[in-house]
Amino acid sequence: MFSKIVIANRGEIALRILRACQTMGVKTVAVHSTIDRNQKHVGMADESVCIGPPSSLESYLDIPKIIAAAEVTDAEAIHPGYGFLAENAEFAESIEESGFKFIGPRADTIRLMGDKVAAIEAMKSAGVPCVPGSDGPLNNDAERNLGIAKKIGYPIIVKAAAGGGGRGMRVVHTEAALNNAIITTKTEAKAAFGDDTVYMEKYLENPRHVEIQVLSDMHGHAIHLGERDCSMQRRHQKVVEEAPAPGLTEQKRQEIGDVCVEACKRIGYEGAGTFEFLYDSGRFYFIEMNTRIQVEHPVTELITGVDLIKQQLLIASGEPLTIQQSDIKLTGHAIECRINAEDPDTFMPSPGTIDIFHAPGGPGVRVDSHVYDGYKVPPNYDSMIGKIITYGEDRITAIRRMRLALSETVVSGIKTNKSLQLRIMNDHGFVEGSKNIHYLEKRLNENK
Ligand code: ADP
Repeated sequence: MFSKIVIANRGEIALRILRACQTMGVKTVAVHSTIDRNQKHVGMADESVCIGPPSSLESYLDIPKIIAAAEVTDAEAIHPGYGFLAENAEFAESIEESGFKFIGPRADTIRLMGDKVAAIEAMKSAGVPCVPGSDGPLNNDAERNLGIAKKIGYPIIVKAAAGGGGRGMRVVHTEAALNNAIITTKTEAKAAFGDDTVYMEKYLENPRHVEIQVLSDMHGHAIHLGERDCSMQRRHQKVVEEAPAPGLTEQKRQEIGDVCVEACKRIGYEGAGTFEFLYDSGRFYFIEMNTRIQVEHPVTELITGVDLIKQQLLIASGEPLTIQQSDIKLTGHAIECRINAEDPDTFMPSPGTIDIFHAPGGPGVRVDSHVYDGYKVPPNYDSMIGKIITYGEDRITAIRRMRLALSETVVSGIKTNKSLQLRIMNDHGFVEGSKNIHYLEKRLNENK
C-alpha cells in the first residue's frame, strides 16, 4: 500500500478520500487553492500545499502544479476524486510519466471512455447492449444524416462525443429540425469541450437511469456491486440517487452485472468504474462509462458494506481483489440527497457564509459534507455542499429516515435545495418508485 498520496480535489470528496486514507494508515497531502485554505480536509491532512488562486484553471485543473506538489511532498500516488481532472487522460499520463501512480484506470482506458463514440464502439464489441444510433460520428453530409436518423426513427438525440455533465445534447423530433440541431450541437461542443464530434442516438422517451458499479483489479479479476437508480434528474443532472433500483429483479441485475464484468475484463479495466445505462421496458441501453468514483457511490457502500475508496487505493497499489462476486450481497435500501447551495426555486447558485450548520444523525444516517459553522461557500466551484445518505431495511424506511434527516438539517446564511429534497421525499410518485428521468422536471413544471 502507498505510504502517502495527494488528494487532487476539494470539498466533500476530498474529505471522503482523506477519511479512507486515515483509516488505512496512508498519509495525505491536500492541495488547495488560496480560497480553500480553510477546507476541513486541508486542516486534517498530514501536509498541505497551496497550488494557486481560486480559479480552477490555475489550481485544481493545473496539472504541473499538482504533480509538483506530489514531488515536493514525496507522495507516491494521486487520487483525482470526481470532476476536475478525474477523467483527463493527459493528467493520468503525466502522473505516470512523472513516476507516480494515478489512482484510477490507465490513461488509454480514460481516453477511450472519454470519447463516447469510441466507448460505444468498444462496448458494443464487448457485448454490452447500446442505444440504437449512428455507430460513429456525424459529418456535414446533410443527406447522409437524414438517412441515419430515418433509420433510427424520431425522436433522436444529437450528443457531443466529448460531452459531460449533462451538456452537449439536443433532442430532435422532426426531419426538418435535424441538420440545424447537428450544426448547433457541433458549435456548442467545440466551444465547451474543444471537440466538435457529435453522434446520434435514438431518444428513449421514458427511460430510467440505472448504472452498474464495478471494481476491477490489475490481475483480470472483476466484480459488480449491483446498481444505482439515478432517475431523479434536472437538466440531465442527478438530484437523488438510490440503490437498489426499485423493481429490478435479481435475474436482470445479474445479467447486466455479468455483462459489465465481462466488458471490464475485455478492456483490461483497472479500478472502480460505472457503466451508465438507460433502462426502458425491461431492457438496458449503455450510454457511457465513468472511469472514476462517483458522487453517488455511498448508496452502494451502504447496501454492500464495501468501502469503494479503499478498494480504489488497494487496486491502484496492485493488490488483487479479495472480494468475490459471491461475497456481494445487497442488503436493505439506501437513498442519497445532494445538498446544493442554490435557490430551491430558481436553482441559481447561492454562495456565501454558512452561519450555522447542523448535521442530522441517528440510525441509518450518513452525512458526507465538508462544511461547518462559518464556512464560506466560494462562488468558484460546484455548488454541492454535501450529501445526506440514509439507509433502511427497506425503501420506505430509508425514505422516512431521509425525511427526518432533512428536517433535522440546519444550514443558515445561504440558500439550499433542502426544501426541494423534502418535497421529493414526500412526493407520492417518488414514494411509489420506478419513475423515469423526466418525472422530476414534470413535477417541477406543474408546481410553477
Ligand atoms: P453526460 O456525460 O453529460 O452525463 P450522458 O450520456 O450520461 O451524458 O447522459 C446524461 C443524461 O441525458 C441521461 O441520464 C439521460 O437523462 C439523458 N440522455 C442521454 N442519452 C439519452 C437517450 N439516448 N435517450 C434519452 N435520454 C438520454
